[in-house]
Amino acid sequence: MAHAQLTIDLGAVVRNWRRLDGLTPAGCETAATVKADAYGLGLVEVAKALADGGCRTFFVAMLGEALNLRKALGDGPMIGLLSGCMQGDAERIASAGICPMLLSVEQFNRYTEQCPGQHYGLQIETGMNRVGIDPVDLRSLDRTGIAENCRLMISHLADADDIDSEMNRCQLNAFLQATEGFTIPRSLAATGGILLGPDYHFDLCRPGIGLYGGDPFKDAEPTLTLALPVLQVRDIQSGQSVGYGGEWVAVSRARIATVLSGYSDGILRHLDGKLSLYADGVACPVIGRLSMDMMTVDITAHKTIPDHLQLINDRQTVNDIAGAAGTIVNEVLSGLSRRYDRIYVT
Ligand SMILES: *Cc1c(COP(=O)(O)O)cnc(C)c1O
Repeated sequence: MAHAQLTIDLGAVVRNWRRLDGLTPAGCETAATVKADAYGLGLVEVAKALADGGCRTFFVAMLGEALNLRKALGDGPMIGLLSGCMQGDAERIASAGICPMLLSVEQFNRYTEQCPGQHYGLQIETGMNRVGIDPVDLRSLDRTGIAENCRLMISHLADADDIDSEMNRCQLNAFLQATEGFTIPRSLAATGGILLGPDYHFDLCRPGIGLYGGDPFKDAEPTLTLALPVLQVRDIQSGQSVGYGGEWVAVSRARIATVLSGYSDGILRHLDGKLSLYADGVACPVIGRLSMDMMTVDITAHKTIPDHLQLINDRQTVNDIAGAAGTIVNEVLSGLSRRYDRIYVT
């Protein structure tokens, strides 16, 4: 194998979307959150596959992503922009038919003044204290204008991954109260919220991480395989060390494979000593310190010399890697190297 290969199973992404959709009632739409380059998997490829699979609404974080997506998907799908309308962007948002999810009174005034009659969404603050219009301020906004042009009211749960968290119910009640009396479609749930049950589903759910095989959606199919090429194999004697600092020392004869990929590819240094790579299904421990572009693997137990080793597969998923690194799977995914050759399969 000549290059590191990240294989992305778009079929699995679409099946995960369908599975999540199946957890909500028929009248509830399932959108897809594809911000941060579809959590590192590739915005255009993922969104096109989901659109072909029947997804009609997408959420991104930045205007550039929204414009790319519009170009890739054409005019049909709704594209919600989670950063709303930033200064100077109103015209471009409106002319591309993007739906800005307005997050403050200031943004509301900006967009409705500069682009009267254009559609938008509203983000409501219900307890996360990140972005959103305070429910009291919502009451002071032009109600008729909202009834005519607002397509969706959303809020975001701060602790949805914890089914027992008190915050979920509190935010649900705050959302119900804030949106009472409006007849506009509502959305509260991302992946975690879908799993909290029907009270949280409203008219539209907007999962991200679950589509890509990440926790807390335990029934997700893995979507990634990452294979790293072996650069060199070397037999060393007992007492010889490997890598920076000479920290790992062989206690008997060992065969070491050096593969191409390191911490600059998003393989976090917290993983030192906690990771294996797979050679034809056999787990081989990564030993020594991770380098910027390389890592060393003890393949002594493996009978032959492999031409590549797998870092991500069905036995060691992105969830396992996040657990070992003491982080969340979102960080592992969105940190995946842009240097890998990407292969999309369906
Ligand atoms: C990131 C995000 C989502 C998707 O969340 P997941 O936990 O990845 O499913 C949905 N809505 C908003 C507002 C977000 O910021």
